[in-house]
Amino acid sequence: MAMITIDEQRCKGCGLCTIACAQKLLVLSDKINNQGYTPARINATDRCTGCALCAEICPDVAIAVFR
Ligand code: SF4
Ligand code: SF4
Repeated sequence: MAMITIDEQRCKGCGLCTIACAQKLLVLSDKINNQGYTPARINATDRCTGCALCAEICPDVAIAVFR
């Protein structure tokens, strides 16, 4: 089983991770973080494969993957 964590305060809401995830598990949330951006969040965590593409593409190193 895999899981990810997203540092919402570090995220700049660029959306690259939402494109990278083949499972389409990542979306931008409606809330605003301390930097004024809408951070990414994950849906359906049980479907995460742990592929880590989201973490690799994130320019702000906001995503950590655990397998
Ligand atoms: S680790 Fe892979 S499957 Fe899981 S959220 Fe990131 S891109 Fe999607
Ligand atoms: S790629 Fe990183 S900075 Fe961009 S939305 Fe995803 S978590 Fe946020």
